[in-house]
Amino acid sequence: MKANISHLRELQAIDLKISKLDKELAASDAEIDKRRASLDGHKDALVQLSEKIAVNEQRRREIEAELEDEEVRIKDRQAKLMNVQTNREYQSILKETEDGKKANKQREDAAVQLMEQIEALTAQIAEETKICEEDEKMLAEDIAAVEKKAGQFTAEKNKIMKTRESKASAVSASILKKYTAIRDKRNGLAIVPVTGGVCRGCFMNIPPQLYNDLMKEDKLISCPTCHRIMFHETEEE
Ligand SMILES: [Zn+2]
Repeated sequence: MKANISHLRELQAIDLKISKLDKELAASDAEIDKRRASLDGHKDALVQLSEKIAVNEQRRREIEAELEDEEVRIKDRQAKLMNVQTNREYQSILKETEDGKKANKQREDAAVQLMEQIEALTAQIAEETKICEEDEKMLAEDIAAVEKKAGQFTAEKNKIMKTRESKASAVSASILKKYTAIRDKRNGLAIVPVTGGVCRGCFMNIPPQLYNDLMKEDKLISCPTCHRIMFHETEEE
């Protein structure tokens, strides 16, 4: 039984190493996903900014056309002024001309405002484009690093798995089954030391009689609280 416990402890150490590697890799993948989502956000912002600019440009062109039409009407009226018969007609054309000029002044202001908005949006696009380019470059580097790590991890894992196989085959089938079942249920930890009468899996005290049995190392003993397999370890260990 002593040998079985020793093999199980080695197996547990190997399995913890494997799950640590698995977790690290999953964390890197999650980080990459997060960064990719952030980059997509910036790209969406770029599209929206371009759309806003297109709308503003369209409106600006409309205003420019209105301005030109009004200019033509103003010139027509000025020509008409030469041939008016009555003062009333004269005043009326004068007023229309003034109104047209006033409207055009407003159109000019609106066009200037639109130009300013377009300039601001263009500056935002330049900023977002810069962020996207930098993010993309960094992301590519990070993905390469993660892929390299994954390659190393796979090689390391293959090596560890071979060692694991030989360790596992040294343990009796029924004990291995028990170990695997506990590991699945107990967060990857199936065999734990007991120091100072305390199970290091759940940190509960174990009964003195059980502790005495544990010292003998002649059978597999589980913690009454967390059901993990226990082995005795001195405080120094
Ligand atoms: Zn326990």
